[in-house]
Parts: sequence; C-alpha cells; structure tokens
Amino acid sequence: MRIVVLAGGIGGARFLRGLKAAAPDAEVTVVGNTGDDIYLFGLKVCPDLDTVMYTLGGGINEEQGWGRLDETFVVKEELAAYGMEPTWFGLGDRDFATHIVRTQMLDAGYPLSQVTEALCARWEPGVRLLPMTDERVETHVVIEDEGGKRAIHFQEWWVRLRASLPALAITPVGADEAKPAPGVLKAIEEADFVLFPPSNPVVSVGTILSIPGIRDALKAKTVVGVSPIIGGAPVRGMADACLTAIGVETSAAGVASFYGPELVNGWLVAPEDAPHFVSPGLEPMTVRAHPLLMSDPEATRALAKAAVDLALELS
Ligand code: GDP
Ligand code: CA
Repeated sequence: MRIVVLAGGIGGARFLRGLKAAAPDAEVTVVGNTGDDIYLFGLKVCPDLDTVMYTLGGGINEEQGWGRLDETFVVKEELAAYGMEPTWFGLGDRDFATHIVRTQMLDAGYPLSQVTEALCARWEPGVRLLPMTDERVETHVVIEDEGGKRAIHFQEWWVRLRASLPALAITPVGADEAKPAPGVLKAIEEADFVLFPPSNPVVSVGTILSIPGIRDALKAKTVVGVSPIIGGAPVRGMADACLTAIGVETSAAGVASFYGPELVNGWLVAPEDAPHFVSPGLEPMTVRAHPLLMSDPEATRALAKAAVDLALELS
C-alpha cells in the first residue's frame, strides 16, 4: 500500500505515528509544510519538517510536541546575553545542531529535499519525508498595530504575538513561482490514496496546496481528511485564528467546505460533531464519525486506521 500524507507539525506528526502503527507495511511519503520556515541567527529552521522527523524518530519533546527531548538552552541564553534578536523563538542546544547541519548543506548547494533526506538518515523516521518544495516559500501575515498595517513572518505572529492581533491576510509568499520538490508529484501519482491529517488547514495543509501542481495532482486521487476541529474548537493551538482570517467557520464542516468535495472524498469528524454536520454542497463527500482525539498511542492508531479504512473503501 502506498500512502501520501500532507503534514504540518504536531497534528501531522502525531497522526503519522498512528499511521505507522495502523499500516506498518505501507510505504508512506510525507509532503511536509515549509511555509513556517524561518532564518534565525543565519540558520535555516524548518519547524514542521523537524517536528515530523523528531516525532517519528523518537527525539521529540512529547509534552511540548515540538523541539528535542532532554533539551537545554545554553546557546539561546548566550545569544540573549549579547542582545541578539529574536528572543521569542525557542531554539534548544540539541536542535541548533540540526539547523547548523541543514544550513551548511544548503550553503554547499544541496536542495532542501536532499538535506532533509540526509538528516533523516540519522533519525530513521520510517517514512519518506519530502519538503513541499525546494524553493523558499514563507507564510506572511498582515496585521495592524500602532505602526499601521504591515506584513510579518508567520512565526512572529504565531509565536511572539500568539495570534493575539487579528490576521488581515495570510499569504504564502513565493508559492506562486515555486515547484513541488522532486518526488512529490510522482509520489502522489503512485499513491493508492492520500490522507490529510488533522493539521492546520490554512497554514499547514493549505500552504502545501498552494504550490502549483499539487492540488491538481490530488484531484485524481482518493483523499481522506481528518478534522482538526472538534466541537467547534481546535484541539490545541490557535488554528481558529487562521480560519477566521480567511473567513472560514471554525467547525468540522467549515474546514470540509474549505477543502471542498472536489478535493476531499472522505472526511472524519468527531462523534459529537456528526449530528450537527450540515453540509450544503458537500454531499459528494463521505462523512464518518470517529473519536478524533490523539490522546494516546492506541487512540491515535485507531484514528489512522479509520482514515485508511475509509480511503480503501472509497478508492
Ligand atoms: P503545527 O504545524 O505544529 O501547528 O501542527 P499542524 O498543522 O500539524 O496541526 C495543528 C492542528 O492539529 C491544531 O490546529 C489542531 O486543530 C490539530 N490537532 C492537534 N491535536 C489534535 C488531536 O488530537 N486531534 C485532532 N483531531 N486534531 C488535533
Ligand atoms: Ca507549523
């Protein structure tokens, strides 16, 4: 069985761990979001790729969901002592090594896809991890403060401001001219089906879909998605702020209509959302209820299995 998964960070990585348990023999290709990538202290940081790599490779800080296990922050403190900015992004000492290796390889001319493969040689995530593109794409957010309207990097809005100022627009800068990374379209073409984990629909899955060619390749496939919204709220994080910014209701049905029935064929919603699932225009989508909380390994495995089962049924 060949499966392609479009993944952001925490929601994507946890779902993938369940998928590996549910379908241990499947060949899984992960197309990772790189719109959250940011240069810090001269280093290229790819938060979502690293969250997937560390989670599947056994190096993640479980409680936090991102960053390394047993992390220390000496370098961060030393940089702050020099007055270096920014101080709001948590880079740990162990994590720094990943970004140093990545940046050196990029500077030597390797594309991000090859660099990611090299990093994964250490972590052995058990999936093929591809960035959505090798080109630089950065999600920017338009906000308005005392200084007027301006665009800031997604991480500044998300991490520094904790999405406290409304986003007037969210744009993946550079996406229009970007190409899918080598292997992405082929993996989609050869996949038996494609899964959308409960990742942020706007700044994770939506960003991947903004790379020309990916959405069209998916239309020919059976796609099953898992709602990242349970009972009208994102399970963790502030995904509602992203949905509000693009005028989408924070609900399982809202996210389903955002993707649309021409893209998503099957949609898993939480049992408590199923009775209220009103779906004008979404009739072609098969909606199924299943517990969606990835609270422990068994619940996560069962959720991934439900997604696989629905995809097999529909394909
Ligand atoms: P990020 O890049 O780290 O923000 O992670 P993702 O884009 O992969 O996913 C974040 C989204 O996952 C959050 O906005 C939540 O809505 C969703 N999420 C997190 N944990 C769970 C869970 O246990 N169940 C479901 N259904 N969604 C979850
Ligand atoms: Ca992310």
